[in-house]
Amino acid sequence: MLNLITETMLYFGRGAEPSLEPPETDEILADCGHEIYPNEPVYISPSAGTLCEQCVRDRAQDLDAAALAAALGYERSYVL
Ligand SMILES: [Zn+2]
Repeated sequence: MLNLITETMLYFGRGAEPSLEPPETDEILADCGHEIYPNEPVYISPSAGTLCEQCVRDRAQDLDAAALAAALGYERSYVL
């Protein structure tokens, strides 16, 4: 009880309560975990959420040629 009283007195002695929240800004946190700021692109999937531009590029680099071609609307075939 004595500790509680001491902490309360210290609190009131300091004036305004320090904010526990970060400063308010307009950026969003994409589902990939990266911050996206106003006027930067965000890529939205109804099933997978949001990605920043760099993560879209990273994922494109991970695709093999057939998957990338399919994403661009091309179908893989073979010359016989
Ligand atoms: Zn990202």
